[in-house]
Amino acid sequence: MAGRPLSYLASIPAQAVKGIGPRTAKKLAEAGIASVADLLLHVPRRYLDRSQLFDLSSVPLGEEVTVGGTIVSVRTRRLSRQRTMIDALVSDGTNVVTAVWFNPYLKLVEGSEVALSGKAERFRGRLQMTSPAVDRLDGGTESLVTGRIVPIHPGIAGLSPHQLRVSIHNALQRSQPVHDVLDPEMLRRLGLVDRATALAAIHFPATLAEVAPARKRLAFDELFRLEVALAVRKHRQIEAVTGVSHQIDGPLLAAFLDTLPYALTTAQRRTIAEIQQDLASPHPMHRLLQGEVGSGKTVVAFAALLSGVQGGFQGAVMAPTEVLAEQHYLGMSAMIADAGLAPPPIDAAAAPGQDELFSAPPDGPVVRMALVTSSSAAVNFAAGGTTRRRIVDWIAAGNVDIVVGTHALIQEGLVFHRLGIAVVDEQHRFGVYQRVRLREKAATYDPDLLIMTATPIPRTLAMTLYGDLDVSVLDEMPPGRIPVVTRLAGKRPADLEPVYDLIRSEVAAGRQAFVVCPLVEESDKLEAASATAEHERLSAVLPELRLGLLHGQLRPSEKDAVMHTFRRGELDVLVATTVIEVGIDIPNATVMVIEDADRFGLSQLHQLRGRVGRGGHPATCVLVAEPTTEDGETRMRAMLATTDGFRLAEEDLRIRGQGTVLGARQAGIKDLKIADILRDVDVLAAARSEAFALVAADPGLAEHPDIGDEVRILLGADDEWLLRS
Ligand code: ADP
Ligand code: MG
Repeated sequence: MAGRPLSYLASIPAQAVKGIGPRTAKKLAEAGIASVADLLLHVPRRYLDRSQLFDLSSVPLGEEVTVGGTIVSVRTRRLSRQRTMIDALVSDGTNVVTAVWFNPYLKLVEGSEVALSGKAERFRGRLQMTSPAVDRLDGGTESLVTGRIVPIHPGIAGLSPHQLRVSIHNALQRSQPVHDVLDPEMLRRLGLVDRATALAAIHFPATLAEVAPARKRLAFDELFRLEVALAVRKHRQIEAVTGVSHQIDGPLLAAFLDTLPYALTTAQRRTIAEIQQDLASPHPMHRLLQGEVGSGKTVVAFAALLSGVQGGFQGAVMAPTEVLAEQHYLGMSAMIADAGLAPPPIDAAAAPGQDELFSAPPDGPVVRMALVTSSSAAVNFAAGGTTRRRIVDWIAAGNVDIVVGTHALIQEGLVFHRLGIAVVDEQHRFGVYQRVRLREKAATYDPDLLIMTATPIPRTLAMTLYGDLDVSVLDEMPPGRIPVVTRLAGKRPADLEPVYDLIRSEVAAGRQAFVVCPLVEESDKLEAASATAEHERLSAVLPELRLGLLHGQLRPSEKDAVMHTFRRGELDVLVATTVIEVGIDIPNATVMVIEDADRFGLSQLHQLRGRVGRGGHPATCVLVAEPTTEDGETRMRAMLATTDGFRLAEEDLRIRGQGTVLGARQAGIKDLKIADILRDVDVLAAARSEAFALVAADPGLAEHPDIGDEVRILLGADDEWLLRS
């Protein structure tokens, strides 16, 4: 093996590097840098091109600039017990600038060469910079900064940029040539530079042109490690695991598809075929069904459930909220009835204790369906007197075919008789944990798993986020959808009058409207209170209309009642909190007013907007907002500019950053230091296909021990992503 493997360098403590003593090692460790490999992967945030320094004689005032010079004098003054002021005179040989900091930790040495970045101003006739970022350019005996390009590494508390630079330089010296786990043929094919070159160039490039290829190579490595881990995990969990070979041709699915009141879209047909293939295979399906709000995911999921049921298995549907679980239950019950598959109703109250009634095989094909949430329970085959206890028993006995619920499905000791397929509706949430738990319900085999999401993210990224999943995309809307018109309105009464007029005229035309109240972070109570107040206020503004109120503090049965009344058209306007955000389907609603819209996130706004325009009538979304922040303004502009969820999701990611959007949920993504999952989508695609091809040919990585070591060691030992054996 040529050179030192990164996995080996990960076992060498940083302190083994020349110039790193215990004190420096401690500071590094506090920032998560423990090994030589960690040092090598602590890559510069940016670079200072010394040819781009401003001349002190021509510095533009009030703009961000970088100037360079030598420290002529340094003075430290104690302003108070905690506060120290440092001022330094920096000269470029002809002119001087005074730099002032209020920072007791800054260490400046007379005679050393520095770059100052910040805004310059004139103060008492002299050029001054207040609290500029300071980069030491001189490198002592090391000629680290004699070239034109100075790397600016992300700062480490307690270490000067120079100390850090020297440490990394020495680490690199000690490690080179770093062994490359990719062979030259692969590098050529992918257009990547070798690892030793990449590491040298990213830290100490001779020209700025070297940086991009170096970064690309290291980003590839990071993503490749992640994808190899995913590929191995997928192999272990799917290819090597026993699932159910479902009976995909059968009477239930045929009856359902034959009686659908509309033609499936091409995307729906393709997706159903993809799922059928997984279902027929003896390995468990792990598939993500991704589709824009309104793209018709429910039909696809239902077809998958019926495929499982007609072979004698049970299906489960898990929704993120009770309202949505109930909606799925009602919607699917209606589909069952429309397809002529409704079981004959039984009077459960009249036949107490006679559960054998329900286990008798019905005459024709039927689908028995149950709802189980923490507050409600129902079945589509027993009229009155059905208790939750009884429903749970029926499920365990196999007398229910499809069970719909919330997390209660996995939390409340529900036992399935023969769970064959689970559908998890995540809408725009990511929830790895529940997925795993639901799978454990089946005893000797893994049920097939279909996860639905309305989060439009690039396919490769979705696969990475969802780990070992395959992805199907519904990239086509059912015909006849008219894009929702989006408008911005101010908050003054004069701005709102046209909004009320719009509601009045739509209601006069037989349509309905939503008014979503301002978001109150972290407090359902306050949010409910504000919705209640808004309901009262609007009742006075629109006295001729029938207004309903929906918020999170209502009891589930009350929520249910309100939703039913609204669904039946007995209310004109529903004043609500974001409880309606997820998946509510009221085709007759054509107006969505979102108050203080700038306070909502983009994906939430997109979800809310998707609640209208579902019934073939033109619909309007009104964003009531006077944004006070730049992000708020950006979000409003994005919403006005596009209804494309894909573009909005990217914008959202850009505004919030990958760490916050995805980090909390997915280990592996938040740990990416070099790759940017949006910018590097192409690199991700390449890394994924290489990793999966490699693992397909060598599942145990026996022929690639160096790659195996690297993945195991660099991804961290107790990680879910890890190659656990
Ligand atoms: P999603 O869950 O993807 O947001 P739904 O499954 O709730 O979307 O479907 C939205 C609406 O479109 C529903 O009212 C559904 O009946 C209808 N629908 C689904 N597929 C089609 C189709 N191929 N043609 C016409 N309408 C459809
Ligand atoms: Mg839906």
